[in-house]
Amino acid sequence: MKVIETIDEMRRLRRQLAEPVGLVPTMGYLHEGHLALVKQARAENPSVVVSIFVNPTQFGPREDFNKYPRNPQRDLALLEKEKTDIVFMPSAAEMYPERSNSWVEVSKLTERLEGASRPGHLRGVTTVCAKLFNIVQPDKAYFGQKDAQQAIVIKKMVADLNMDLEIIAVPTVREPDGLAMSSRNTYLNPEQRRAAAVLYRALSLAQKLYVGGERNAEHLRQEMTALIQKQPLADIDYISVANAETLDELDTVSPPALVSLAVRIGKTRLIDNVVVG
Ligand code: AMP
Repeated sequence: MKVIETIDEMRRLRRQLAEPVGLVPTMGYLHEGHLALVKQARAENPSVVVSIFVNPTQFGPREDFNKYPRNPQRDLALLEKEKTDIVFMPSAAEMYPERSNSWVEVSKLTERLEGASRPGHLRGVTTVCAKLFNIVQPDKAYFGQKDAQQAIVIKKMVADLNMDLEIIAVPTVREPDGLAMSSRNTYLNPEQRRAAAVLYRALSLAQKLYVGGERNAEHLRQEMTALIQKQPLADIDYISVANAETLDELDTVSPPALVSLAVRIGKTRLIDNVVVG
């Protein structure tokens, strides 16, 4: 496994890689969710590149960029075990020199959900992914269904801008109580960690109601809201039942529908989703 810190070196090594090349972009502090992406990339490509970059442009001014958890030594050991070929770990100065002045922005889809709650976040994500795609030139890039809107927006960017790669969404990996694995779960104290299971309980309730025949989207939102409000440590940011392609909110649930939510547990903002239908 080679660990690369500069764009020039990454480009030089890329020319020697057997194709197809699979890329897994991450912000590090790896868990089994990230490793599911790496495993799938490993199974589908002779060459696997994983990037670790805590991307400053996707954090708002009052968000957790400075305290975002980091543990590169542990990350590298985990990636070595998964037989990663190259880890690309650039500095912020390498990725964003002072003269950098360009953005990639997907309109409409980014006005909703995470885009509405975190202005500029998705523009930071699409910009850094476009840069990583240009640097690594992967044939396939792997994203988690956990960040459903991110995967949808990146697919749209790739289609709209004729980028020559395939985007693959990988199912969410969960803890035994259903909580989606996330680097941010480390912020939770034991009491908050127990409370955080309410996100998946609410999503499971929506799924159960849907399977039982419920098609009124507002009813699903109300039932999820009522369940989460019973948990005193939880503070709802949004609850959405939307078309899984356009992200338009639905009145009547018709498949595939994306049921998603963002909930604060203490100061920690968690997101999760399921697709119904
Ligand atoms: P992050 O390091 O949080 O930017 O995540 C890097 C990639 O891993 C993104 O594509 C995420 O959607 C994905 N990911 C994060 N958590 C999970 C999870 N629990 N299951 C599957 N994929 C995940």
